[in-house]
Amino acid sequence: MDIGVKRQLEEKVYAGERLSRADGEALYASDDLAWLGRLAHHVRTQKNGERVMFNVNRHLNLTNVCSASCAYCSFQRKPGEKDAYTMRVEQAVQKALEMQDEQLTELHIVNGLHPTLPWRYYPRVLKELKAALPNVKLKAFTATEVQWFEKISGLSADEILDELIEAGLESLTGGGAEIFDWEVRQHIVDHACHWEDWSRIHRLAHSKGLRTPSTMLYGHIEEPRHRVDHVMRLRELQDETGGFTVFIPLRYQHDFHDSADGKVRNRIQAQTTMASPAESLKTFAVSRLMLDNFDHIKCFWVMHGLSVAQLSLNFGVDDLDGSVVEYKITHDADSYGTPNTMHRDDLLHLIWDAGFTPVERDTRYNVVRQYDPAPKLADRRSEPQQVWA
Ligand code: SF4
Repeated sequence: MDIGVKRQLEEKVYAGERLSRADGEALYASDDLAWLGRLAHHVRTQKNGERVMFNVNRHLNLTNVCSASCAYCSFQRKPGEKDAYTMRVEQAVQKALEMQDEQLTELHIVNGLHPTLPWRYYPRVLKELKAALPNVKLKAFTATEVQWFEKISGLSADEILDELIEAGLESLTGGGAEIFDWEVRQHIVDHACHWEDWSRIHRLAHSKGLRTPSTMLYGHIEEPRHRVDHVMRLRELQDETGGFTVFIPLRYQHDFHDSADGKVRNRIQAQTTMASPAESLKTFAVSRLMLDNFDHIKCFWVMHGLSVAQLSLNFGVDDLDGSVVEYKITHDADSYGTPNTMHRDDLLHLIWDAGFTPVERDTRYNVVRQYDPAPKLADRRSEPQQVWA
C-alpha cells in the first residue's frame, strides 16, 4: 500500500473520522496484518477497554428440513432424507431442559424453512420454552425465517413479530444476511429473503424495541469489495435505527463431515477454499474499523478454532460467542477438531490466557458479571500454558 494512503488512513482512524467505501477497500488491499490489527485494536480498546464479553447460551435447531437449497449449506435436509429431523414441541422443551444445568441465560434458535410445519408451531414452541425456562432469554429466528412465516401464514411481519414477542421472543438472530450484494448473492442463496426484506424485518424489530445481531458470511466466492458493501449497508441501517447490538463475521465452511448418507451438500466446494486465519483476522479488523456505530464485534469461535479466537481479540473483536454444547449448523461441516462444547470456566481461561478481562453479558449486552482482569502476560510464571486447539 502506498505510504501516503497508509498515513491518511491512520490519521482518520486516530481522529475518529468515519471511513469511506474506498478506505475499506484500501484496508483490505493491505497485507500489513500487524498494522491493521493495531488500528482495529485502538478502536476496540476505545470502545470496550480490555473487556471481552460472553454469554452462556445454547443453540437449538428445531428442524433441519428446509425448502431452500442454498449452495454453501451443509445443514439442510429434504423430507425423507436419512438424518432429516423435526422436533415436536415437547421434544424441543425436553432438549432445552436437558441444557439448563449450567445457568444458561440464552437459547439461540435457528431452523430450516420447513415446507409443511404450520406457522402456529413457532409461537407455541417459544411459549412452552419460556414456561419451562422462565429465566432464559429466547433469541430466535433469522429474518429469512420471519419472511417464510409471512409466506406460510398470510400474516405480515408486523403481526408475526408481535405474536412472537408476546410468546417470549427477546431478539431475532442475525443470520440470513450472507453477502447482500446481488452479484454474489444470486449464486449462493436459494431462499427469497434478500437485502430489502432482511433490512425491512430488522428495521421493524428495532422499531418494536428489539435489539438484534447482524452477520456476514465471508470467504467463499465474494471479493473484499462485497464485504465492504455489506458493512456499509449495515452501518447505514444502524445510523437509522441504532438497533444492532453486534456484528459477527461468519467464516464460510467446507463440508467434510459424516452425514448419514455421506453426501457432500456444499455445491460451491470445488470452486472455493476457506478463509485462512490471516484473512479472518483482516476481516475482523476491517469490520471493526468500518462499523464506527457498532459497539461490538463478535468472534464465533466454533468457526475459527480457539487460537484464532484468542488472536481475534487483538484485531477488533470484544465478544466471544459463549458456551455452546451443541451447534449443528457448523459442525455438520467441520472436521478441524474444534470442540463444540465450551463451558463458562473454559471460556474464562481462554480470555484470561489471551490477556483480557472477561465480562458476562445478557442477550441485550447488559453486564451480568465482571471478572478479575487477566494477570499481565509479562508477570506470568514460565510454566506450560494451556494450549488451545
Ligand atoms: S442456509 Fe438456511 S435457508 Fe439456506 S438451505 Fe440452509 S437452512 Fe435452508
